[in-house]
Amino acid sequence: MAAFDITQLRVHPDTAFDLSAVDPQSTPGWTDDQYGDEDPKDAGKERIKELNDRLEALQELLYAEGRRRVLVVLQAMDAGGKDGTIRHVFDGVNPSGVRAPSFKKPSKNELAHDYLWRVHAQVPKDGEIVIFNRSHYEDVLVVRVLDLVPEERWRKRYRHIREFEQMLVDEGTTIVKLYLHISKDEQKERLQARLDEPDKNWKFERGDLDMRARWDDFMAAFEDALSETSTDDAPWYVIPANRKWYRNIAALEILVQTLESLEMTHPPAHPDLASITIPD
Ligand code: AMP
Ligand code: MG
Repeated sequence: MAAFDITQLRVHPDTAFDLSAVDPQSTPGWTDDQYGDEDPKDAGKERIKELNDRLEALQELLYAEGRRRVLVVLQAMDAGGKDGTIRHVFDGVNPSGVRAPSFKKPSKNELAHDYLWRVHAQVPKDGEIVIFNRSHYEDVLVVRVLDLVPEERWRKRYRHIREFEQMLVDEGTTIVKLYLHISKDEQKERLQARLDEPDKNWKFERGDLDMRARWDDFMAAFEDALSETSTDDAPWYVIPANRKWYRNIAALEILVQTLESLEMTHPPAHPDLASITIPD
């Protein structure tokens, strides 16, 4: 089977990224090379299981080695699938080595600090995978769109963010950033489901409609964030996310391939294990 080519989802550094050129319904990399004569979605679900098992093993290796750190940044519009991605991608992965902090509206105390303060406090330590459910990128997304700080302040943040992430990389963190790209129509359907389905009611927030009204401004802010902060060491990947099964495959492929590129090995065993007897 041909490898799923994740490079086609990557945002190349120093280029103006055109988000409108990405079809949220598309499934780049998931081709008949991979699923043959099978139904793409059914075959996709099988693939998700395989990739999930590999991720499980890779996470255990990362934990066993205990000397590298992995940070996954997840961003999307409301109902873009951040929670579902975390749930499916990390299904069955040992929770001891994984954390998924979410970044909400900053508290009064958080606002009394610089915007990276609360973020830096949550970065992964040795052996850990941390998934940011929203992140410091909110400080150039919602903050920009709602004019929460003046432009002269948020403009400088792209540079801060590049340098902050580079520092983390230089000190031993692997960074992968995923933007889940849904269409405005798909968001409408998903928000409607939150109104219609009792077990989804709790997810509905009126404020989401105010954000939805600013859709085009958010897309422009995402485009700038992706263009300004995708680097070789901390790349952004744009995942077409209308189809949840494809989104899960793509996120898993990116994580699995990134972790495999670290070429991790089990730490050496104790030298004389063979001579040890477990007492009765
Ligand atoms: P949710 O992810 O649905 O729980 O919503 C969290 C909300 O917090 C979203 O509307 C975010 O835009 C908002 N949020 C996260 N970070 C910030 C920030 N730095 N400034 C303002 N709002 C934020
Ligand atoms: Mg929400």
